[in-house]
Amino acid sequence: MQKSEIAIAGDTSGVEFRLPVVKFPGADASAPKTYMQAALHAEELPGVAALHFLIPMLEAAEKRGDILGSITIVPKANPVGASQYVNGANEGRFDLGSRTNFNRDYPLLSGDERDSLLDGVEELLAAEQLKHHLLHMASGADLMLDLHCDDESQLYAYLHEVWWPEATDLAESIGLEAVLLSDGKSSAFEDAVTHAWQHGPLGNRKAWHEGRISLTMEFRGLADVDPVLGRMDAEGLYAFLQRRGVLKGEPIRKESFEGVVAGLDYVQMVDAPVTGMVLFEREYGEVVEKGDHLATIVTTPGDAAGDVKVTAPAEGTIVTRITRRFVRRTDNLMKIASRELSQAKRKKGGGLED
Ligand SMILES: [Zn+2]
Repeated sequence: MQKSEIAIAGDTSGVEFRLPVVKFPGADASAPKTYMQAALHAEELPGVAALHFLIPMLEAAEKRGDILGSITIVPKANPVGASQYVNGANEGRFDLGSRTNFNRDYPLLSGDERDSLLDGVEELLAAEQLKHHLLHMASGADLMLDLHCDDESQLYAYLHEVWWPEATDLAESIGLEAVLLSDGKSSAFEDAVTHAWQHGPLGNRKAWHEGRISLTMEFRGLADVDPVLGRMDAEGLYAFLQRRGVLKGEPIRKESFEGVVAGLDYVQMVDAPVTGMVLFEREYGEVVEKGDHLATIVTTPGDAAGDVKVTAPAEGTIVTRITRRFVRRTDNLMKIASRELSQAKRKKGGGLED
């Protein structure tokens, strides 16, 4: 195991961020190269817990000679966001200096542009330096897993539709409960890696997606951080790497995948019609029918006339739910994976959310 740090100059004098990188070189240069990172949105920690338990497993595997493909891990991918506090609360999703999401607005690389991605990087603002370093590492891999989490949620993944159903091995290894398929057209990290592959050199491949995968894992909800889940998720990641020939051995975990698979255009975004206190009637993971009562938003406590009922716009499975109970008009309350096309419009960055 090799440990290193990437230095990122802060935007003011005397400030420097350090990005830890863990690398296992691997014994077989022809085996797939893996890149994994967690907490790109700094406060999303279930992936950090999984990597915390995975790294010692990989150290043991290395001693046994079981690591074939190189594995690069960035266990805490966003020291800039982790340092941002506003009125006592961490703000790890948006860079305060540029108002951009740490998981949007990545450079979309073509040809051999990856080779020069780090040229003059120190002249950029800190958040941009971070994005360039992460994208440079990830786009050089064959398997890229970006570990996030949702508010309250099932265990699900976003990935380009070209990799389904091949990625059933991922779903079976990790125990995914849902898969959301995208068209790769956002500027999120996962799609920026896909774009670099799509528009970059093919190498020995017949097609850009052959032997590759780039995905965003949503490891359940913000509060789903504990040793039991962390160990289980580490085993899931380990099993996936075994199935892809990065690690030797029979997969240590395999579950049948029976979850919902939906394209992004089939994800019903249930947004709050008014501001108030939300009383949920349904849990995530539940299957609902069109018109089912999902929640009530109380606008005038004590006066039922002010209650606003929120119903399901279509049938489907509730994949996520907002954590907060005080909601603002337009806030997303739930995502429902459905068989019906959604009327929800994509956000500016091409994703379901800003
Ligand atoms: Zn995230």
